[in-house]
Amino acid sequence: MSQIKAVDLAAYSWLLGIPSKHWSRHGFEESIKVDHVTNNITESFNNWVNPFRGMPVLSLLEQIRRKQMRRIKKRHDQCLQWATTLPPAIHKRLEDIKKEARHIIPIWAGEDEYEVKDISRHYIVKLISHHCECGLWQISALPCKHDVACVNTWRKDLNEYVHPYLKKEAYLRTYSFMIHPIPDESTWSEVEADNEVQPPVKKRLPGRPKLARRREADVVFACNVAIIKRSCSRNAENINKRTRYELDVGSSAHNLSAADFETFTGTLAPRHVDIHWDEIF
Ligand SMILES: [Zn+2]
Repeated sequence: MSQIKAVDLAAYSWLLGIPSKHWSRHGFEESIKVDHVTNNITESFNNWVNPFRGMPVLSLLEQIRRKQMRRIKKRHDQCLQWATTLPPAIHKRLEDIKKEARHIIPIWAGEDEYEVKDISRHYIVKLISHHCECGLWQISALPCKHDVACVNTWRKDLNEYVHPYLKKEAYLRTYSFMIHPIPDESTWSEVEADNEVQPPVKKRLPGRPKLARRREADVVFACNVAIIKRSCSRNAENINKRTRYELDVGSSAHNLSAADFETFTGTLAPRHVDIHWDEIF
């Protein structure tokens, strides 16, 4: 927090008003076993349903149902193909942790307890209770580098120290069910209803309906290609056009917010192609 305070006092004050369990890993509930933080979940969902956003509510829900139907079947089939007892992403994380553990020196105190010397300090590890003083094991359900170093001294299988939540069996159980197909509406039986629900009265607002999604000012661009507005008073052909710029990935431009992006001209590479408004919307 002191580092955040040194960079931006306003951000520091804002964070103080939010309980740390919502945004900082050290405050996460240990029983959940997830150390991942997603701060743009609504953006992800909006992008996921983007092709259907203009549909009426029932049609939109039908499309989401079909999308989920395909997704569950696809993930279930993929899981059956895995050669390891851990999902590929977890397996890779564990392999990376193994590499980090190479320089760790554990000292066996007895039973399942270890004192583990890391670069700047030492930590206490208890293997049987899956506990490391650094806290990562309890939160992520995956052994941290300190635990891996201890397990390696016994040459035991590391997979035994991964929580069952992260294993193939749990993934398979998650996608073991299916969403059953629904018969076509023409085959549905008539239902007698005393109070029919009428559709709402449609009010047409002035102006053209806006189809483009509005971004909040603090939305971060997730892609490496973005579009910004550009006009040129000297060349009539360029008026009302947009120019596509390519972000230099890895530069400071990568995490521009929408507001920053509108005014940003610094490290963007020159354009590829001019695009008419009609081609975009
Ligand atoms: Zn640790």
